[in-house]
Amino acid sequence: MGAEVEEAALGSWHLAFGTQFAAILVFCMKIRIGIFPLAFGFVILGSALLHSAQDVPAADLIIDHANIWTVDSTHPSAQAVAILRDRIVAVGTDAEVGAWRGPATKVIDAGGKLVLPGFNDSHVHFVTGGSQLDNVQLNDATSVQEFVRRIAERAKTTPKGSWILGGDWDETKWTPAELPTKEMLDPVTGDTPVFVSRYDGHMGVANSAALRAAGITAQTPDPPGGVIVRDPKGNPTGALKDAAADLVFKVVPPLTHEDRLHAIKRALAHAASLGVTSVQHMSADYADIAAYSELRDRNELTTRIYVAPLITEYEDLTKVGVRRAFGDSYLRIGAVKGFADGSLGSRTAYFFEPFSDTPNNRGLLSDEMQPPSAMRDRMLKADAAGIQLCTHAIGDQAISMILDFYADVAKQNGMIDRRFRIEHAQHMAAKDFDRFAQLGVIASMQPYHAIDDGRWAESRIGQDRASRTYAFRTFLDHHVRLAFGTDWDVAPLNPMLGVYAAITRATLDGKNPNGWFPKQKLTVAEAVEAYTMGSAYAEFQDKEKGSITAGKLADLVIVSNDIFKIDPVKIRDVTVLKTIVGGKVVWDGEAGK
Ligand SMILES: [Zn+2]
Repeated sequence: MGAEVEEAALGSWHLAFGTQFAAILVFCMKIRIGIFPLAFGFVILGSALLHSAQDVPAADLIIDHANIWTVDSTHPSAQAVAILRDRIVAVGTDAEVGAWRGPATKVIDAGGKLVLPGFNDSHVHFVTGGSQLDNVQLNDATSVQEFVRRIAERAKTTPKGSWILGGDWDETKWTPAELPTKEMLDPVTGDTPVFVSRYDGHMGVANSAALRAAGITAQTPDPPGGVIVRDPKGNPTGALKDAAADLVFKVVPPLTHEDRLHAIKRALAHAASLGVTSVQHMSADYADIAAYSELRDRNELTTRIYVAPLITEYEDLTKVGVRRAFGDSYLRIGAVKGFADGSLGSRTAYFFEPFSDTPNNRGLLSDEMQPPSAMRDRMLKADAAGIQLCTHAIGDQAISMILDFYADVAKQNGMIDRRFRIEHAQHMAAKDFDRFAQLGVIASMQPYHAIDDGRWAESRIGQDRASRTYAFRTFLDHHVRLAFGTDWDVAPLNPMLGVYAAITRATLDGKNPNGWFPKQKLTVAEAVEAYTMGSAYAEFQDKEKGSITAGKLADLVIVSNDIFKIDPVKIRDVTVLKTIVGGKVVWDGEAGK
């Protein structure tokens, strides 16, 4: 296989020479020189070709003595890989790839370790994630007392006028699992405004200072697509769901450009340390793109980024004429992200039938779906302009409605390679798997949510609906393409946790060691593929990355253990030894940087 690959690489060298020849030809014609110099040109080119056929250009980097899982079905495993500039040029045995070794070639002896394509996280909130690395950490607070104590501590060091934000709290880890209130926060925070978010991003709790700043009182009506949680007297408790949270976000001072650059750099370093070589940033602000663009110019992006701003702003992209996956290998735009509903945890996911434990509640359609025809209209226009559609849909009816709209878009705008996406695709109606496949919709899913929500999901939606929750296997059985990610900072960015979650479905509370709805488990190979090729396909980059294949970008990772062989339980402890992006080592675990 190494020889074939070399031939392919040489083919592109021939092509380069061909182009050079065409240039010489044009040049000759321009200066009207005769046939003799032209023939001379042939001779020079001929000898150059012969020369290159004998001496393969030396690789910049070779990784050998490796156990490579390529995610390329034509040759799934290999021992070595050669990289020239930012591309993979050969994949094969140590001997085959050794032909690419020259005096200046750097060689990494992998010592038999597993090498995989770099992970591509199909759904992150990269700037929020980077900021959260510096925010108060509430996700692992296991009691309301601990939640309050950490906020109190943060309040002591927060400068006057600054907000306490982020947090990612999770009340399901407390006993009892009650929503936090402003009364818990006020005594320890005083005038410091606090708006700490639930980890799913679909709810936050404000203290009185924050509610005052936002002008939220007992008289404030619930905005469309949002809920101001109230006590029996009608006073806001501080908890704000979905669109109601925007009332507070509107008065939070925006991140400065410097804040954003700082958050992105934190996020890039974190991603590199975890083997995440590409991310797809959902619901990005334009200011995020400006910061990425600046870092791109400075060659400081160590993770490749695809950005999807909000669908409500699709006209900005269509005005410029940007289309799906526009940009270079490090920074691309051309997708938009819409929201159909809320989340299961916040009881705002939109279902055909009520929640099992709150019989009057079927969830909430988002403000973008008020009315639903507004969403359909935006989709039709954005798609007609060549923009890729990614839509957050979690409850079965929300998913079904989005599939209806996608079907309308395909019908009205014609069949093209548009790669519709549904983000999360958590709770499927049995009737919709076939439609998902027929429309070619990609299920962009986050396996870690399954082992997290799996702790309590059944009590909210019952056994039948839970059986089609995070239905990885059923999707694959229906030939639906999966793209895996994390939704960081909703869940940890570590891809090993995602692979672990997809193949064990062992809930975080330890109560389902053999898997929560175990029929939906994936194999390691399937999970890795969804996290590499699947995600690359979801961003129109499957020809550029997603597998260790000659010609593709040299994005790969060397990991500490063979996840195909070890006890699945141990996959969550696997670390990344080296992360390579575009042929450059961007994380060296052994060197600690
Ligand atoms: Zn998200």
